[in-house]
Amino acid sequence: IIEFDRVDKSFGDLKVLDELSFRVDPGERVTLIGPSGSGKTTILRLLMTLETVTPKADPAADGGVVWVEGEPYSHMEKKGRLVPANEKWLRKRRSRVGMVFQQFNLFPNMKVLRNVTEAQVHVAGRSKEEAEQKARDLLDLVGLAEKTDEYPARLSGGQQQRVAIARALAMDPDILLLDEVTSALDPELVADVLAVLRDVAETTSITMLCVTHEMGFARDVSDRVMMFDSGRIVEQGPPEAMFSEPQEARTQDFLRAVL
Ligand code: ATP
Repeated sequence: IIEFDRVDKSFGDLKVLDELSFRVDPGERVTLIGPSGSGKTTILRLLMTLETVTPKADPAADGGVVWVEGEPYSHMEKKGRLVPANEKWLRKRRSRVGMVFQQFNLFPNMKVLRNVTEAQVHVAGRSKEEAEQKARDLLDLVGLAEKTDEYPARLSGGQQQRVAIARALAMDPDILLLDEVTSALDPELVADVLAVLRDVAETTSITMLCVTHEMGFARDVSDRVMMFDSGRIVEQGPPEAMFSEPQEARTQDFLRAVL
């Protein structure tokens, strides 16, 4: 469903992704781990089209293209050639992808229910009734059926993050991106958010890509863990193998520091 084909990403002189290639299958749950600055968030931001890849002279031969669902994503086809995607193409393609950020990014001036209906009505073109029904179902799923009429500021961080999860799911994305969704939370609130995500993982077939420092969550929820360093994959495998018998010294050092 997702394929990175020799993707480069630089910020000025800093090379953040270096000829990075990997695939994620439909329904797969993949966790990205690795030291700060290794490029994990940049991968999610490329998939949210918040960043663009560093272009290559001939994408057909040199790669540097992100593919989603078998179609180019960072690029589009024009007269049989791959050229950098324009805004219209990106807007259409990114509607298949939902993202939850570290900072919940809710609309502060809208009540909880409207936070979850807004994009459904204005982007997906659903009726208000349909959007509200869906929002109520999802807010129920994340344990916030009682809070639909509150403003975000009156909720705890964990509750706000659960609203953000409901909001992302409301658009029926094929892919859910989670960027350190518990790092801004007090420890006692982390468990609730992780439980909701475990539920989502168990009850849907959505493809999930998460960057997390919660190794317990990575172990419980993911099918595969990918360890990054300097914009490259150092090692990857099922969580049991990665956590109990990491092969690479770099992974062993990293896990020793975080576990
Ligand atoms: P962390 O775990 O700290 O979030 P990460 O592995 O997610 O790290 P990225 O956020 O992908 O790493 O960042 C990789 C590198 O790119 C970092 O050195 C970061 O400072 C740099 N970087 C990211 N975004 C930008 C930007 N917009 N402009 C300049 N440099 C950037």
